[in-house]
Amino acid sequence: MKKAVYPGSFDPITYGHIDIARRALKVFDKLVILISDNPNKSGLFTVEEKKALVLEALKDEIDNIEVVIGTGLTVKETKKLNATHIVRGLRAVTDFEYEFQLTHANRVLEREIDSIFFMTDNKYSFLSSTTVKEIALFNGELSHFVPKFIEDAIEKKMKELNNEF
Ligand code: ADP
Repeated sequence: MKKAVYPGSFDPITYGHIDIARRALKVFDKLVILISDNPNKSGLFTVEEKKALVLEALKDEIDNIEVVIGTGLTVKETKKLNATHIVRGLRAVTDFEYEFQLTHANRVLEREIDSIFFMTDNKYSFLSSTTVKEIALFNGELSHFVPKFIEDAIEKKMKELNNEF
């Protein structure tokens, strides 16, 4: 069984992430979505909320995915999960530089874990969770970027945050 890990912040999952996960599942039997719990990166959603959103977004693929919250180094977690590859998405040349460094650093840490890259459909090539949150902040239309239930979750979360101030 071919198993890979797809790590990221997924704050929240977008059509870009969903597209990459589906492409990866054409190559791997099992895909572990590893949501990084990074205390230095404060997100809009908690890791538990992000996990629930990922599970809902990929419910058609539920038999072939697993969603795990990661607290350690991705490459070490990948080994622990008995996966052979790390999946990453490439949007544009700008992603390449960062991914190049990350892949080589990971290779130094765990020689046998390799990274594999997929390119999204070009309609998502500009899309990031950050862009989605910025559009939401100014009440922009999100339907091209995230499923409706995510749009609702973002709206609810932003209302909660506004009420805190
Ligand atoms: P990170 O904080 O690690 O960049 P993200 O959740 O932003 O986490 O992204 C996780 C992975 O998904 C990265 O490889 C990123 O390049 C990829 N990704 C995110 N959005 C897209 C997109 N629209 N198209 C292709 N890949 C994407």
